[in-house]
Amino acid sequence: MSTHAPLFVTRPELPPLEEFLPYLQQIWDTRVLSNNGPFHQQLEAELCKHLGVPHISLFTNATMALVTALQSLRITGEVITTPYSFVATAHSLMWNGIKPVFADIDPVTLNLDPRRIEAAITPQTTAIMPIHCYGTPCDVDAIRRIADDYNLKVIYDAAHAFGVRRSEGGQMRSVLNHGDLSVVSFHATKVFNTFEGGAIISPDARTKQRIDHLKNFGFINETTVVATGINGKMSEFNAALGLLQLKHVDQAIARRGEVEALYRRLFAGVPGLRMLDKPVDATPNHSYFPVLIGPGFGASRDAVYEALKAEQIMARRYFYPLISDFPMYRGLPSAVAQNLPVAREVSDQVLCLPIFPSMADADVERVAAAIIAAGAPRRPAASAIRLVTPASHDVPLVATI
Ligand SMILES: *Cc1c(COP(=O)(O)O)cnc(C)c1O
Repeated sequence: MSTHAPLFVTRPELPPLEEFLPYLQQIWDTRVLSNNGPFHQQLEAELCKHLGVPHISLFTNATMALVTALQSLRITGEVITTPYSFVATAHSLMWNGIKPVFADIDPVTLNLDPRRIEAAITPQTTAIMPIHCYGTPCDVDAIRRIADDYNLKVIYDAAHAFGVRRSEGGQMRSVLNHGDLSVVSFHATKVFNTFEGGAIISPDARTKQRIDHLKNFGFINETTVVATGINGKMSEFNAALGLLQLKHVDQAIARRGEVEALYRRLFAGVPGLRMLDKPVDATPNHSYFPVLIGPGFGASRDAVYEALKAEQIMARRYFYPLISDFPMYRGLPSAVAQNLPVAREVSDQVLCLPIFPSMADADVERVAAAIIAAGAPRRPAASAIRLVTPASHDVPLVATI
């Protein structure tokens, strides 16, 4: 048994507490706790600027935002989506009485494969709901072409894509500007957190206004209700925290990048262990560090997962099981295994390793050593492996026994 403190897949970033106290003082003084208060308005404005998006509506969480996004576009019938996501993606369809149709993913990006989207379209299809998995941008151009050809809406579950940019016409632009709407999550486990929270990015003021009405019960003024809206409003407490988090988020993402780079050096050349390609012409946010444990590794994914647990390293199998395997989805025609071979294979191999801004290099090395040892059972256990870390990271790292 390890004597180390447990290491989780993430450790939420929080600003120094004393920096938050003036915000709390203002809330206590003004007694504005919710309903589009000053912190809420300020956070919407600052996020638009920070992310480079035209309009944003804050929410209590991304799941409520996904449900409302579908409502705002009046989506019905069937929506094509990925089985390789967090369950909230498909749940948001079910909450709107929409039938999810699962299509397989691309083996390189792990995002919805545009060719499989096109093959899944029926006369009932009204929209596509892809996710930018682990922050890797979808093939947004191909998805837009399909949506235009078949007159479909596109709602991106962009829960992983805060701050992700891609090169467009010589400029780095936010991936959140694609589709009819994009939804981000500010949950504790995400790159930018407000404890709980989320938002919808809209392309125009009219769409934002409809969304803002829907998240406030459907009220358009004190006495007029025009839709069966919900309560999806972010509180002033969460918005104030967001304002403070925003000051630190670039630095946090930069440190995540260093953690990822160290993992990549430590795992270079390890047989049977695949790391995802770095996205081309994009600025990633390093929100997750998934590895795929293939047949050539020497141990199964689940054996590695258990070996890590024994060392107090809590890696997560995002995304296993597939959404299409949960009881409320597995009866759907599109949930059958033959329809989703790539998603199934990846789901059986994936392991998301700890990555967070306050993670020490020594902990990254400990995780890597434990994984490499799990794949080489005839060699001594992880504790006997010493990682030689050169002072300069230009030199490849070597594991010596
Ligand atoms: C986290 C997550 C959600 C849900 O976000 P909440 O803010 O927790 O509701 C939805 N989709 C994906 C892909 C996620 O990772």
